[in-house]
Order: sequence, then C-alpha cells, then structure tokens
Amino acid sequence: MEKIGPSSFETWFRTTDLSVNQDGTAKILVPNQFFADFIEEHFTTLIKETLTVEQIQFNSLIFVPTQKDWKIVQPLSEEIAEAQSKQIPHKVEKLEQYHSNYTFSKFVVGDNNRMAHAASLAVAEAPGKTSFNPLIIYGGTGLGKTHLLQAIGHFAQTEVTADRVIYMTSEEFTNQYINYVVNKKDSTSFYKKFHDVDLLLIDDIQFFSGKPGTQKEFFRIFNKLLLENKQIVLSSDRQPDKITDMMEHIINRFMGGLTTDIQPPNLETRMAILRKKAEIDGLFLSDEVVQFIAGNITSNIRELEGTLIKLIASASFTGRDITIEVAQELCGDAITKKDERLSVMLIQEKVAEAFGISANQLSAHTRKKEVAHPRSIAMYLCKKWTKQSLRSIGLDFGGRDYSTVIHSFKKIEGDLETDTELREKVTAIENILQVL
Ligand code: ADP
Ligand code: MG
Repeated sequence: MEKIGPSSFETWFRTTDLSVNQDGTAKILVPNQFFADFIEEHFTTLIKETLTVEQIQFNSLIFVPTQKDWKIVQPLSEEIAEAQSKQIPHKVEKLEQYHSNYTFSKFVVGDNNRMAHAASLAVAEAPGKTSFNPLIIYGGTGLGKTHLLQAIGHFAQTEVTADRVIYMTSEEFTNQYINYVVNKKDSTSFYKKFHDVDLLLIDDIQFFSGKPGTQKEFFRIFNKLLLENKQIVLSSDRQPDKITDMMEHIINRFMGGLTTDIQPPNLETRMAILRKKAEIDGLFLSDEVVQFIAGNITSNIRELEGTLIKLIASASFTGRDITIEVAQELCGDAITKKDERLSVMLIQEKVAEAFGISANQLSAHTRKKEVAHPRSIAMYLCKKWTKQSLRSIGLDFGGRDYSTVIHSFKKIEGDLETDTELREKVTAIENILQVL
C-alpha cells in the first residue's frame, strides 16, 4: 500500500486475493476481466516484488476473474448511434483555443464558490501535487464550472505548471472514443492519446451516464493518470453519486479526491459579477442599474450576462445612456410580471426603511432584536411576494439556511393573527411595495 497510495490500493487490491498452486502458479483472484487487465498492465512488477519480499515461492503469475460482470468491452450500439449523430467540435488543447474570458482573473469569488475556486487555483498551481486529485466541481448550469475548468487549463499552460493539458467535454470524449472504436476497431490508440497528459479536464461528466463502454474507457484512463500522479479535474451538474447509470467503481474512486460544489450566487456576488463583466466590456453601469439587474435576475450567471449583452447592444445602437428605465425596458423578457419584478432587494430596502435601519444590516450576522425582527418580516414578505425559492431568499439574507426562512415566515404569519400593531406595520410596507 505504501507504494501505490491508499486510494489506488482500495480500488485495485481491496477486492483481490492470492492463492498459490502446488505447481507454483500464483493466482491473483480479481473481481473481473477489467481488473485483471488493468492490474496485469500496471502492477505485475510490484506484485512479483512483493511476493518475493514476503518469501512466497512462485514461478508464474496469472490473473483470474471471479465474476463475469463488466462483460461489455465494446460500447453499446446505442452509445455508438448517439455519438455518431452528433457533430462535436474539437477539444481545446492549445492555449489560444481557451475562451479568453474564462480565466481566474475574470472569475468573481463569492461565498457560493469560494471553495471550488480555491481548490481550482491550488491544482492549477501544482497539478497532481495536492490531495485534490481528482478534483470534482459540481453545481447547476450557468454557475461557473466551465469557467473554472478552463481557467485551470489556461493557467497551467501560461504558467507552465503542466506540459500537456487536455480540456474536453464528456461528449467530446465519448465521440472521439467511439470514432476510434468504429474506425480502427480498437481503442488502444485512443487510450494512447492520454499517455503523456499532465492535466486532464473533463467537463460535464453527467453525460457519461448510461454509456457503459465509454465509462469503462474513461475509468481506465482515469486510473492510469491517477497512478502516475497526473491531475484530473471533472465537472458535473449534480453530485457525482446522483448521476444515474454510472459505474459504482467510478463513483467510489472519486472519494479519493475532493468533491466541491458551486451554489447560486447571492445578491452581492451577482452585483460584483455584473460590475466585472461590464468593466471587461468597457460599459459604464450606474449602481442603480447594477442593483436593478442583479436584484431581478437571480437564476444563473449566464442569464445575467445575456442581459448585459442586450444593454451593450442597445447602448451602441441608440447612443442612449443606460438608465434604469432602459434597463427595465430591455429586461422585459426576463422581468415581466409585476410580482416577479418585486425583488428581494426592494423588499429589504423598504422594510429597512420602515424600521430605520440599513438594508445591509438585514444580511448581517446579528441576532439583536432591532435587526432580527425586521429581518423576519422581510423574509416573510419575500416568501409571500416573490417567486424566489426559500434557498435563494436565504442566500440573499447573508447566506442563511432555507429553514431559517421558513421559520421566520411561520413566526410572522402566526403573529399577524394576534398582533394588530404588527399587522398594520406589514400592511403599510405592502402598500409601499404596491403589492396590494
Ligand atoms: P457552467 O459551466 O457551470 O454551466 P459557465 O462556466 O459556462 O457555467 O458560466 C456561465 C457564464 O457565467 C460564463 O460566461 C462565466 O464566465 C460566467 N460566470 C460564472 N461564474 C462566474 C464568476 N464567479 N465570475 C465571473 N463570471 C462567472
Ligand atoms: Mg459548463
């Protein structure tokens, strides 16, 4: 175990056994043919050495699969058909092919992605030399997974922390693998493509789901690279163990590294991202407009960017300044109905005003009654009048848990039945918000 590390040991030797026949044949019992091939290819010398050290007499070594699972060596016909029906662009292997905006310097760090960002930077600086191997980043769409993966690749190439880097999506991987199998009738040459890779980045591994042939090939490459301490970084739109039809061996193997998530950004981070993007595009946005957009577009960052692109187009076509009215007009599709337009931010602002505190205090981590009470009211109103999920409301109140939002909502709802003064106060705020 000292020689190959605990996680490789777990994978390859926990389930193996040894018996030596009278004729001197050492039999290594392994779960299946795949294990037999992999262990034979990578560990024969090590096993022979170990047997010698342990003074076990043998004259030959054979690998015997004990189960007949993992029979599929070739991809399924569905896998082939699906891959062939898609035209997938070529993977990024050269620096100039990375998206120029997807670098670390253009990535805004917030509470929602701090860990994923730190781990990404660490592996980019020292690929294969941290304990984050493999590094797996998961999270909903448009939250920055591809940005981080490409930033790692970009960094490793500009700072030359890795000689050979491959970035590809899982679909490109599948497609290329199938092409090799179909055209060359074997996958050896595909496997060889990865032989001198120092850093392998595979985006959106959820698409490996239900493709056993591809998964097996991926598993083979993945394990080979890990054995050689090469860095692997993967992304997925959900937690790896929630990917259906993914081989258990693969999932278990992920445990040896670091799995970290990206959450939806809170208001503050959305505003910071918007400012950064505007700056990159050389567009001036007033604080009011930034607040308006970030306060209304909450689902994902791609949508936030889409709105910005519209604003840029409008600014350049009409020569108009971007005022809040222009922003409202242009965001029409994203923010139409009145109740949707009512943002968490506006509610926070009006509630804070009504209680003579600042809106920022509502997100602060204090339990002082002067703040906690208005905060509960603001949460109540957000749940009642916006379409935001409890989770997203919680995030906009200083990253609080959704259970806090529910708790506050129930508390205020209950109190409203008996407390006239409270009822008047809340109704007054609702009037200001023009929701009644
Ligand atoms: P995913 O791969 O998770 O679906 P992307 O990485 O494609 O998401 O991100 C969508 C868009 O949002 C990209 O243009 C990306 O630059 C931007 N983005 C996401 N997170 C951030 C961030 N923290 N800072 C700056 N831009 C971001
Ligand atoms: Mg992506």
